[in-house]
Amino acid sequence: MFTIKNHLEVENNHLIIGGADITELANQYGTPLYVTNESRVVENFKAYRKAFPDADIYYAAKANGSFAILRMLARQGAGADVFSYGELYMALLAGIPREKLLFNGNSKTDYELQTAVELGVRVSVDSRDELHTLSEIVQKAGKEVEVAFRVNPDVSTKTHPKISTGLRTSKFGIPSEEVVSIYREASGLPGILPCGIHCHIGSQILDTAPFHEAAQKMMDLVEKVTTLGINLKFVDMGSGLGIPYKKDERAPTPKDHADAILPIFEERTKALGISPKLILEPGRYIVADTTILLTRVNTVKRAAKNFVGVDAGFNLLIRPAMYDSYHYAVVANKAASPPEDTYTIVGPICETGDILAHDRELPHIEKGDLIALLDAGAYGFSMSSQYNGRPRCAEVLVKDGVADVIRSAEDVGELMAKQKLPARLM
Ligand SMILES: *Cc1c(COP(=O)(O)O)cnc(C)c1O
Repeated sequence: MFTIKNHLEVENNHLIIGGADITELANQYGTPLYVTNESRVVENFKAYRKAFPDADIYYAAKANGSFAILRMLARQGAGADVFSYGELYMALLAGIPREKLLFNGNSKTDYELQTAVELGVRVSVDSRDELHTLSEIVQKAGKEVEVAFRVNPDVSTKTHPKISTGLRTSKFGIPSEEVVSIYREASGLPGILPCGIHCHIGSQILDTAPFHEAAQKMMDLVEKVTTLGINLKFVDMGSGLGIPYKKDERAPTPKDHADAILPIFEERTKALGISPKLILEPGRYIVADTTILLTRVNTVKRAAKNFVGVDAGFNLLIRPAMYDSYHYAVVANKAASPPEDTYTIVGPICETGDILAHDRELPHIEKGDLIALLDAGAYGFSMSSQYNGRPRCAEVLVKDGVADVIRSAEDVGELMAKQKLPARLM
């Protein structure tokens, strides 16, 4: 037995996750299949909490919205960053208390804002226009709402442009120079209780300098807002901590993240004589490395490249096609065999961009082999689709060698589920 990456082990040439042999899971549940190691989710959450012992950890539900995962995190005391009515609904159902939720979003519907107000969930307001809408909604409802403002701190993160959210030109947040005036306006609006400040600068960040820079800019704003006489109850620094997708890549740990922001946070709050709660919103770090996407080889073709056609495509894992992401690939039934050839792993979708892994040195591959794409727990299933007439696959959760289905595979019935024919086409 040896460890291949993090918690993943190899025994008798087979990949083992959470004590379960991957080849047996494939036989029992079929492929494609998402497999999550329950203990690893808890370990990752605890690592964040240990690094930030006095902070609240709000899991970013969009990274992986599986109900079982939300439930596990709720039981660990997590809060959640929710970005839609759907995520809000699921988080509450999973048992995350409403006072540990922050309703985020740059384009919320009136219905979403009304729901947050009715339920007493805090809202992160993304524009002045939204502030006015929210003020009308609370007045009509005869209620009050606690709000934060999402700040655009203008920090460059050197991550993929599609996941860099804190740049000046990003659609998220309120420009720093408008922040003070918006708090001033908010504190005069009926029913609006400004009590937090929020930022989130991007995702898959592999260097702590941007966290440090954002924290400094945020604390400058905290000072200005405090000077207005507003009592900030929380400062939410978001997250975006990256993980090492490549085997020998280095990534900062939650401890490194904490070292980049805690000293500034503590020093500046102390100087101001205030004690807001610090909030972090990790998504990827909590779930990415907990899960593999298991897929079976349908066909091998020697052409311009050695193409391995598998049964999962960007319908199930869009990250390589969308962000040029790298996922480490293992031939799960030959996990200890030496590499023999270079392979490009492609999905079954009718698009040339449906490539899961380029030019990998792998053991000899043939029809029926199992390929595991590692670190697929964040922005994997949660971004899946039925494109090309493909029902979504099942998800299983493994703990101490025992697997449970946490989402059944869809079948073609689900492709038809909401479709209707006008009478003239009957
Ligand atoms: C996506 C998102 C997160 C989580 O980002 P990760 O890179 O997954 O850690 C946190 N906060 C907000 C507001 C987000 O949109």
